[in-house]
Amino acid sequence: MNKILVKYINFPLQYKKIKKELLGTIENVFESGNFVLGPEVEKFEKNFAKSCQTKYALGVGDGTSALFLVMKALGIGTGDEVITVPNSFIATAGAIAATGAKPVFVDADDDYNINPRLIEEAITKKTKAILPVHLTGRPANLDKILEISDKNKIYLIEDAAQAVGAKYNGKKVGSFGIAGCFSLHPLKNLNAYGDSGIITTQDKQLYENLKKMRNHGLKNRDECDFFAFNSRLDELQAAMLNVKMKYLDKWTKRKREIASFYQKKLSDIIKVPLDKPNEEAVYHTFIIQANKRDDLQKFLLQKGIETKIHYPIPIHLQKAAQYLGYKKGDFPKTEEQTKKILSLPIYPELKKEQLELVVNEIRKFYS
Ligand SMILES: *Cc1c(COP(=O)(O)O)cnc(C)c1O
Repeated sequence: MNKILVKYINFPLQYKKIKKELLGTIENVFESGNFVLGPEVEKFEKNFAKSCQTKYALGVGDGTSALFLVMKALGIGTGDEVITVPNSFIATAGAIAATGAKPVFVDADDDYNINPRLIEEAITKKTKAILPVHLTGRPANLDKILEISDKNKIYLIEDAAQAVGAKYNGKKVGSFGIAGCFSLHPLKNLNAYGDSGIITTQDKQLYENLKKMRNHGLKNRDECDFFAFNSRLDELQAAMLNVKMKYLDKWTKRKREIASFYQKKLSDIIKVPLDKPNEEAVYHTFIIQANKRDDLQKFLLQKGIETKIHYPIPIHLQKAAQYLGYKKGDFPKTEEQTKKILSLPIYPELKKEQLELVVNEIRKFYS
């Protein structure tokens, strides 16, 4: 096995930079004796809502629960349909199915996000919500999607798990729909040291409802309004996230610089993602489309460069989705992209020499 020169992900590098602050804040939490729903969670929720330009934010156990709880709180369940995409992490469709509702897929567009031109034909009397994913950290076409959700009187719920900080028409994602659902999983742009998630909303009633729903339906210590769930962000994670919030904009800026470097150096030989004028993507992933993708991936690994595929099997072709009755060929764009996509390493700590190595080896492969 060759030495890895460019890892796909390298958490210890980030840790090194903020170690002192992280360990300090952990110690404070231990000494405080508060571990669940305390001041650090409240502080993080306030911070997050502010940065997302929403009235409310509510910390929960993980991004999947964020999606599930929002749909539950909106009364979505058995007999309902929710429109989403087949090219996402399985959690998007999984959360819909967990409510009892049926995931209805709409194919992706060239930007990997839901194709708004195909949404209306998927709407039925049972459709309760559209759940677009801001895949790769790029906002979905929110103007068109909002127009459709308004016209058809169905909810727009944003799966913003990959897109913390991304902007559309100058506004942060997570502030467009009835709710925005974020994952703070270690692999996401704003990352905890374990599972965490957060929900944003402008809707007071939904917020109040969700606040009870994540905590057993309790309205106070002793009184329970309805049977619910236990899905809370804990103090240790929140404390560490509060540290990281201070760096998020800087890290995002650096990721965008790396993306722009890749774009400049590679756009003449492979398909690279490009920002549209009204979007500001945060590049959770940087996905190229490459001919002979599998060979390219092997070649790069031989040269010490790790890459990934997000995602190798579209959701409609997963065993879990068999009961929905989809088959190969139903979502041609997604299926076509699945064969070509390759995610290049993109994180703030990557060095110039590493980026140059990636670019040069890809060029070598095609020369
Ligand atoms: C990561 C992810 C989720 C799930 O988040 P978890 O925190 O892992 O539960 C949902 N949707 C998308 C698009 C994701 O990338």
